[in-house]
Amino acid sequence: MEQGRIVKAISGFFYVQSISGIISCKGRGILKKKEQIPLVGDQVLFTITDRAAMEGMLEEVLPRFNELIRPPAANVDQLLVVFSYTHPAPNYVLLDRILMMAESQHLPALICFNKVDLAESGINRSLKAAYETMGYAVIETSAKSGDGLSALKQALRHRTTALAGTSGVGKSTLINSMFPHFSLETGRLSQKIQRGRHTTRHSELHQIDETTWIMDTPGFSTLSVDYLDETEVRDCFRDFEALQTTCRFHSCLHLEEPGCSVKNAVKEGGIHPNRYQNYVTIIQEIRKNRRY
Ligand code: GDP
Ligand code: ZN
Repeated sequence: MEQGRIVKAISGFFYVQSISGIISCKGRGILKKKEQIPLVGDQVLFTITDRAAMEGMLEEVLPRFNELIRPPAANVDQLLVVFSYTHPAPNYVLLDRILMMAESQHLPALICFNKVDLAESGINRSLKAAYETMGYAVIETSAKSGDGLSALKQALRHRTTALAGTSGVGKSTLINSMFPHFSLETGRLSQKIQRGRHTTRHSELHQIDETTWIMDTPGFSTLSVDYLDETEVRDCFRDFEALQTTCRFHSCLHLEEPGCSVKNAVKEGGIHPNRYQNYVTIIQEIRKNRRY
């Protein structure tokens, strides 16, 4: 048996990266046991059934250190959310949704604002500061000038990082600039491949070097929050958490309730008003969906 890591799973085949190359494996043996559904990111044992055709059979899924539900993946260390300051302008509701999803799955998140070279000198950095105050690491980069690339590279090294962010923010350019030996010819980010096709929504893992992996996760960019209820959404806003105990009502959702510390903090500047507005938007969406 050989060991490898599942980098892609499509239509019943599991593509396993190993010293023998990428072997497309069937999962029959494992699936029959019904113990575990193999996930992208899993370390697995497999046997080669046809070396010339690069085909094999999964035999065993090795223990995972974590498991994500959205997107389905295993052994992911962190999430990197990439936005650009301009072209396209950041969608902060989307940023908060992505962070919320990471929180709900106990996945550490890192934020990157790219294209600093295009941002006007007078750019409003209050939101960047707000996310830093919440405890998120924020890295500003320019894939064009090279600013911030060594810091970002440092943060990705020796880890498996799921990548999120809409098309056009510069994800492929960043990866290519940081890891020039890694050719996106062979490992193109799937949002590009999928542009115009909207049925395939699978994650794909790219091995950058021996210990560095990037997981392209198209599913992260158009998020529905239907799997969380209002209380869970509230608990994923980590900046609200510390204030929860001082709200008059123990179960305060920070909406219409009197004596709400979160709303006070918005008024007094402790919580960024956009962040609070994004929270209200998400809660309203959940309430609206529930009515159908
Ligand atoms: P992706 O869809 O997120 O992978 O984005 P791409 O890497 O394809 O980049 C989209 C466009 O933005 C390309 O034309 C890049 O050349 C450009 N781009 C990426 N990063 C930067 C940057 O830091 N500064 C500038 N000025 N342009 C950038
Ligand atoms: Zn409250």
